[in-house]
Amino acid sequence: MVEARKNSGTFGPALRIGVLGGGQLGRMMIQSAVDFDARIEVMDPSADAPCRYLTHRFVQGALTDAEAVVAFGQGLDCITIEIEHVSVSGLRTLEAQGVRVIPKPDHLAIIQDKGLQKQFFANHGIPTAPFEIIEDSNEVGKMGFPIVQKMRKGGYDGKGVTVLKDASDLNKAFTVPSVIEKAVAIDKELSVIVARNGRGETQCFPVVEAVFDPVANLVDYLIAPAAITAEQASEATQIALSVVEKMEFEGLLAVELFLDEEGQILVNEVAPRTHNSGHHTIEANATSQFEQHLRTVLDLPLGSTEAVHPVGAMVNIVGHAEANGIPEYVGIEAALEMPGVHPHLYGKSTVKPFRKMGHVTFTGKSRDEVIERMMHIREQLAVNGNTSA
Ligand code: ADP
Repeated sequence: MVEARKNSGTFGPALRIGVLGGGQLGRMMIQSAVDFDARIEVMDPSADAPCRYLTHRFVQGALTDAEAVVAFGQGLDCITIEIEHVSVSGLRTLEAQGVRVIPKPDHLAIIQDKGLQKQFFANHGIPTAPFEIIEDSNEVGKMGFPIVQKMRKGGYDGKGVTVLKDASDLNKAFTVPSVIEKAVAIDKELSVIVARNGRGETQCFPVVEAVFDPVANLVDYLIAPAAITAEQASEATQIALSVVEKMEFEGLLAVELFLDEEGQILVNEVAPRTHNSGHHTIEANATSQFEQHLRTVLDLPLGSTEAVHPVGAMVNIVGHAEANGIPEYVGIEAALEMPGVHPHLYGKSTVKPFRKMGHVTFTGKSRDEVIERMMHIREQLAVNGNTSA
């Protein structure tokens, strides 16, 4: 169908796109698909996933179950993902049946495994922290310390990552096959989201900076453009582009980078999908990351990634430390009162401590002014749980 559309140049509501994963990323993809009159169908293990009531067809199923993925995807025009922990073999079967699969199963197989990912970087001259692949915790000390140990498979949002400062931390080591890498003296954590379509055309969003809370050691906010020099921004962008080009990647790739204290830029890891570090693009850029992703899925021309505001930023809205129950959002009205502030709630049926429940984006003319407004609003934002309802 995508081939037929490309040949005729026409669009139509008959185009069926399947998405593996029905969380907030899928939800924002649906918002973009409305404008393309594309029909989105979703599979997710949870019966009340955020996409549940916004989709043409919802299938409850395990994303890592090859048979379930094939059953869901049969007959679709395209299938894509909003989470990378899905069955690659199921996607391979669908591809063989003629379903357009973006990202490609071979790329997903590399990216799902942090060991293969690091080897890909090393084999293709992409700068990354020195590393070793190990089978069990006996080998954890082989590079010396300090190191960061990462489970090869299954980690997300910092779960599956542990910092080992010296030998006294060995009791914190994972016992599963892992990557160990030299701890980088990080000055800044950066991200560049790149799109590449079937014609090999590429577009990069401006470099985003993740600012960490030094006490909690969690991402505090994300802001673009990053506070780095023009040379550093161009180098980060070139490195991100070289990853998609060397992989011949098709789709949307978020490239997470470190700028170290010596000014060196290294790739940390990549995610083959829309990413938390691109949420501000809905308001701050000519094309959002969600629309750009859809354009790659449908093999359309890519959109301009130009910033339409000098500065864009984003804070997550997470559950209160003791929240449990039906979510009750606090501070949304205060956010709505301000210009250039946009809340996005994910429609999750229950709140849990620190669960990502939504985010708020900020656009403005200067970094200082945007940060000031963000701090003011952030203090008022909270999600409590109502157990009595
Ligand atoms: P996840 O896939 O769970 O997000 P990451 O590989 O991004 O895991 O690691 C999570 C965080 O750990 C990074 O954002 C960074 O702060 C820290 N980290 C990861 N690798 C290193 C490293 N080699 N040196 C120093 N810090 C690191």
